[in-house]
Amino acid sequence: MYNDKTIVCKDCGQEFIFTAGEQEFFAEKGFSNEPQRCKSCRDSRKQNSRGNTGAREMFSAVCASCGKTCKVPFEPRNDRPVYCSDCFSKR
Ligand SMILES: [Zn+2]
Ligand SMILES: [Zn+2]
Repeated sequence: MYNDKTIVCKDCGQEFIFTAGEQEFFAEKGFSNEPQRCKSCRDSRKQNSRGNTGAREMFSAVCASCGKTCKVPFEPRNDRPVYCSDCFSKR
């Protein structure tokens, strides 16, 4: 009664198959939402949450002043410069 379904992963944009068996499993568990991510994205998210327990997620950015690569605790946006801790403290 279920048919394999192709879903586009929310994270990487790749198509993946939500198989009939998985749909049945979801229905049995009473999940009403379809999976939104492919298996590899789900796995990497799981690993991230396991690795970062309690720690803040850090993002790589390039310092707008010295050009060094640094880690910042927020997601760098194109419309605002990011400074490494050295340059930041000098400002
Ligand atoms: Zn994906
Ligand atoms: Zn810098």
